[in-house]
Amino acid sequence: MLAMMLEAPHHPLKVVELPHPRPGLTQVAIRVHACAVCRTDLHVVDGELMQPKLPLIPGHQIVGTVDGLGQQVTRYKLGERVGVPWLGWTCGECRYCRSGRENLCDNARFTGYQIDGGFAEYTLADERFCFPIPEDYPDLQAAPLLCAGLIGFRAYRLIGEAERIGFYGFGAAAHILIQVARHEGRQVYAFTRPGDSGGQKFALHLGAIWAGDPDQAAPDWLDAAIIFAPTGDLVPSALRAVAKGGIVVCAGIHMSDIPSFPYEILWGERQLRSVANLTRQDGEEFLKLAPSIPIHTAVETFPLTAANEALAALRSGAIHGSAVLEIRSKTPDSRQE
Ligand SMILES: [Zn+2]
Ligand SMILES: [Zn+2]
Repeated sequence: MLAMMLEAPHHPLKVVELPHPRPGLTQVAIRVHACAVCRTDLHVVDGELMQPKLPLIPGHQIVGTVDGLGQQVTRYKLGERVGVPWLGWTCGECRYCRSGRENLCDNARFTGYQIDGGFAEYTLADERFCFPIPEDYPDLQAAPLLCAGLIGFRAYRLIGEAERIGFYGFGAAAHILIQVARHEGRQVYAFTRPGDSGGQKFALHLGAIWAGDPDQAAPDWLDAAIIFAPTGDLVPSALRAVAKGGIVVCAGIHMSDIPSFPYEILWGERQLRSVANLTRQDGEEFLKLAPSIPIHTAVETFPLTAANEALAALRSGAIHGSAVLEIRSKTPDSRQE
């Protein structure tokens, strides 16, 4: 099978031909149809996340069909469509797992980080961490739901009843969450990269009531802000933009250093917090919600072997919506081991 392999951080992914992977006891083998590209993949490739297995096949927003079953697999049948998210395995025993917080598991392993992911024609996943994909979604449109959607939604829930919400960084996650927010009658203010008029237009098109640069003042106080961009400078900006009692959520796994700021911008019971990973319950709830709104994802597709180009486009801010690798693998009948 064809795969895109990271041999060492700071190097482009390499096209490699690998043997067809064989599932372990509780794993399914998956013929990958689509894998969305996430900023976290960029952080891994750019060496900003320090514990990848190497060599590594990145990619953690995988949609495909079950193509092989481990001996103890009971939840899925051959040919069923499944999604694989970032959370790839948890221990079930640590204090976090035992208290319903498996997103914080001390021993967690993550897809496309410690487990080979979906930038490949085939992959393996523990059946307990896969999700059925809602029927209404084509493969390409479903893929971004699996991280941009899921983890974005976890961040979104942390802002409670906030009516006026600022999104800092209007990429894959924000373009999904604005649809949830509008469905619930809330107002979204979009802060893009400075001068990104294309991104601002995209946000307004999706129903943001205001879009601008992060150093511009929004026309109203915000009740909450979610920072998706990996830029620590945005933390004081967002704290300045939220009203008393407001909350600022940092939704990314990596961020540049946060500059020091005066206590007065945190004063007034403003809160600052991060959000980490997802639980399986987050996934089940979000994948039920998405078709009920329904959420539409805007995708820009790349062939598997253009994964480096997709990463570069994401890095430069050229993607409006989500980049997705469209993977046309060989059919099971014609595959060669
Ligand atoms: Zn655990
Ligand atoms: Zn992700």
